[in-house]
Amino acid sequence: MKAHDALFIAGGWHPATTGDTIEVVNPADEQVIATVPAGGAAEVDPAARAARAAFPGWAASAPAERAALLTALRDQLAARAGEIAETVTAELGAPSVFAQKVHAALPVAITGSYAELAASYPFEERVGNSTVLHEPVGVVAAITPWNYPLHQITAKVVPALAAGCTVVLKPAEDTPLVAQLFAECVEAAGLPAGVFNLVTGLGPVAGQALAEHPGTDLVSFTGSTAVGRKIAAMAGAAVKPVALELGGKSANVILPSADLAKAVAVGVGNVMANSGQTCSAWTRMLVHTDYYEEAVALAAQAAAKYATPERMGPLVSARQRERVRGYIERGLAEGARLVAGGAESPSYAPAGYYVQPTVFADVTPEMAIAQEEIFGPVLSLIRYRDEEEALEIANGTVYGLAGAVWAGEEAEAAAFARRMETGQVDINGGRFNPLAPFGGYKQSGIGRELGAYGLAEYLHTKSLQF
Ligand code: NAD
Repeated sequence: MKAHDALFIAGGWHPATTGDTIEVVNPADEQVIATVPAGGAAEVDPAARAARAAFPGWAASAPAERAALLTALRDQLAARAGEIAETVTAELGAPSVFAQKVHAALPVAITGSYAELAASYPFEERVGNSTVLHEPVGVVAAITPWNYPLHQITAKVVPALAAGCTVVLKPAEDTPLVAQLFAECVEAAGLPAGVFNLVTGLGPVAGQALAEHPGTDLVSFTGSTAVGRKIAAMAGAAVKPVALELGGKSANVILPSADLAKAVAVGVGNVMANSGQTCSAWTRMLVHTDYYEEAVALAAQAAAKYATPERMGPLVSARQRERVRGYIERGLAEGARLVAGGAESPSYAPAGYYVQPTVFADVTPEMAIAQEEIFGPVLSLIRYRDEEEALEIANGTVYGLAGAVWAGEEAEAAAFARRMETGQVDINGGRFNPLAPFGGYKQSGIGRELGAYGLAEYLHTKSLQF
């Protein structure tokens, strides 16, 4: 894999001050494929300064000009989609079809949607005798995870740029190569120097230095709730706004009137996608007691179909695999019934951080596998007796990121969804909408990404009274 031994700062590639590096490992065969610089405070500082120096010019640029440059960025991402997919396959382990259809394609769609929004967004409004101005907040510190590495980058960087902010990005240490590709695309698209800067490095070193840097005006973080809490505390001390996209434990509620076979098949697919490393995955399937055993049998059959390396890649790292195996052991110890998969490595994977697609039945709402985010291909089936109990279980975790409801009629499912404490609910399967807001209730986060809601995160509001 091609890797830069440099950081992208002020429009050029600069070596890090120390020789510290991060090894990038292919999780499918455990081989080191590249090394990238491990930046720290000494690299974050010039990056933040470059972003500050570029801010006045970028903030003052016409929205149409920013829109044109974001269109050029979209075109670069589209032209290099094959290379992007290969890179995500190499550093994350995503099977190649999924890497092309999701990891490479989604960022193109999102960047395209912001190129359009930048041109049409109401940055100035008239409210009674006031003119209300929506102004960019300044220099954004963007800290992203590895699970959908390029999507997470574009979902922060592109709306921030559309708003007129400048950015310093610290991508996840497991997947820095696609972040370097993104920087190449920014460079090739012709964005002004310093508008976007990339510092690869470790979370507690480069990430922390970036979040704490006095020259950053807002921290946008996606990752674990544990780190999100630390970032919010740091930002709180500096009275710096934060946007947090954190963990989830989303419920897939199958009401008795639903098409059970379809709901279970789509629900299992949702959990197994990306080897279960999706924050919005419907990891708890709630089924009425009358249909429960039928759903368990269908889920076990559906999960078994994912047990091939073409359909399910490895987890991103040995650490993540151990974490997921630990939860599988814990589910067994708590008395859940294993109906597919298990903690052993799959027979088809002699190397690599693979985990079998796993399904637990007889899961009760208080078990750890029903409460905590596993971030692996593990589904928990929970039984309910009536709709009120289903709602109580669905809302009964500290999280509230996503969810699904299935019923014979959309209106019945939507009525249930209105009572769920969660940021996004798919009705009878739903359909992805890049303009719909995405983000969490409760400990799943603060703020929204995507669409106009995602752009508004990067704006201050000023009013002029006449
Ligand atoms: P993580 O919190 O360990 O890391 C996320 C990012 O934060 C990485 O870039 C990391 O280097 C950085 N980081 C780590 N410690 C830091 C610190 N002390 N200061 C500053 N930055 C620091 O999370 P992860 O293991 O990489 O990702 C998995 C988690 O992310 C899961 O819990 C998942 O639910 C969550 N996630 C949420 C969403 C969402 O949109 N809500 C999306 C994807 C992942």
